[in-house]
Amino acid sequence: MMTGDQYRASLDDGRETYFEGRRVDNVATDPILKITVDSAAAGYDRFYKPGDDAVGDFMAVPGSVAELREQVELHETVDLLTHVTYASIMTLLTAADRIEAQLPDNAARIRAYVKDAQRRDVRITQCITDAKGDRSRKPSQQDDPDAYVRVVERRTDGVVIRGAKLHISAASMGHELMTIPTKAMRAGEEDYSIAAMVPVNAPGVKIVNTTYYPRHEDVRDFPVSGRQHTPEGFVIFDDVFVPNERVFLDGVPELAAVFAHSLGLWERLGGLASMASGYDRLVGFAQLISEANGLERTAHVREKISEMMINASLIRASLEAAISNCKITSDGAAFPDELYTNVGKYHGAANYSTMVRHLHDIAGGSVLTAPSMADLENTETGHLIRKYMGTRQDVDGVYRTKLFHAIRDTTADALGGWSAVTNIQAGGGLYAQRIVSRMHYDLERAKRMALEHAHMSEYAVTD
Ligand SMILES: Cc1cc2nc3c(=O)[nH]c(=O)nc-3n(C[C@H](O)[C@H](O)[C@H](O)COP(=O)(O)OP(=O)(O)OC[C@H]3O[C@@H](n4cnc5c(N)ncnc54)[C@H](O)[C@@H]3O)c2cc1C
Repeated sequence: MMTGDQYRASLDDGRETYFEGRRVDNVATDPILKITVDSAAAGYDRFYKPGDDAVGDFMAVPGSVAELREQVELHETVDLLTHVTYASIMTLLTAADRIEAQLPDNAARIRAYVKDAQRRDVRITQCITDAKGDRSRKPSQQDDPDAYVRVVERRTDGVVIRGAKLHISAASMGHELMTIPTKAMRAGEEDYSIAAMVPVNAPGVKIVNTTYYPRHEDVRDFPVSGRQHTPEGFVIFDDVFVPNERVFLDGVPELAAVFAHSLGLWERLGGLASMASGYDRLVGFAQLISEANGLERTAHVREKISEMMINASLIRASLEAAISNCKITSDGAAFPDELYTNVGKYHGAANYSTMVRHLHDIAGGSVLTAPSMADLENTETGHLIRKYMGTRQDVDGVYRTKLFHAIRDTTADALGGWSAVTNIQAGGGLYAQRIVSRMHYDLERAKRMALEHAHMSEYAVTD
């Protein structure tokens, strides 16, 4: 395994990565991007074990309800790059099982890759979402044939791919890009049915980074986003050669969706777990600011916080149901329940704006206008700000100002905007989550129950 310092050094590998118009020499030393590298490096140090075959505890495949719960709790405490690496490995192993019958050699290749990746202790990011062009048209019908990643050349020793994958979390900070089709493909879309592992520093890979990291001299005014951020990468494959041993699927449209479907479950479980914590934190902020404002006993404030608590508890209950109802596969791995994972993720995404609306409604305008920490330190203004930001003797103005900064940073500034969109889009948009929920809901059972209730069971369709 690698230590944090070895990980930092490994990133200086000639990768072509850009940030705000300039080429980045080394992501590990760039003043903004290094913040993400440092949190990933801390993950390396935390899980480091000596020995050639050592594998970090975060990689453990859960085999029971208790182990799945432990793994979910552990992943709540790791940085995003460590988490997506785990989700990628689980995706690959799940996909290997699912393609085994039809493509045994490809399944063997995937398993060999996973072993090697674990031995090298590399970090893997997930490249699924294509540029997609006109959304109403299929990949093969686009004006620009590169709107979806595709194979442009086949050689005896590998393939050349072209296209772009957008919004890829931490792409520039990992070592490998797990590049898989974004959706099902049809006959005639063989070139788009490509799944492969691409090193970040492969010639032709270019990554453009974006981030919500605050551009402000004093990050004390951004107590959350100033300490931790994960840039998204706009990943371009400008004719990238991939050797055969890294190609997991090529030219088999009927299996193209297997990889994205295998990923969806792990990704949404991770999303659901972080929503459960995020929702509880929003309740916490609402209660803290209502207490600081002196309104914690006021009826409409209590009602709003009660509604927030109900939402937060429902999200946690669906996480708990997803874990408790996990399915154990034939090789002993515990898979979270698909229905509870998806409905929880959907409910969390759909109701996030209500949670934030209540918090802003309760908190007041200082969410946006609380003076900065530097103004609090200014000898001319500091004592006056403290006086007027305080609400009574036991509510200090500095404390209340800091609370407002945390609320603004989390919900109403760059990170807040990022969270609002990400909750809805990450792991597929709301529509995609509704489709998957519907797929797993037992509609026939519901119809039978309705007919029984109406004393019309004779109309029930029996299998
Ligand atoms: C912060 C962030 C991090 C992310 N991280 C990753 C990552 O690590 N890896 C990754 O691969 N992706 C990642 N994503 C991408 C995410 O999965 C996509 O944003 C999401 O799947 C939606 O795709 P899109 O952005 O292209 O929007 P669109 O597909 O354009 O969707 C916009 C709307 O159009 C609707 N729509 C689109 N096509 C159709 C159609 N044919 N018929 C009907 N309705 C349609 C959608 O339902 C949605 O309502 C991330 C996104 C964000 C915001």
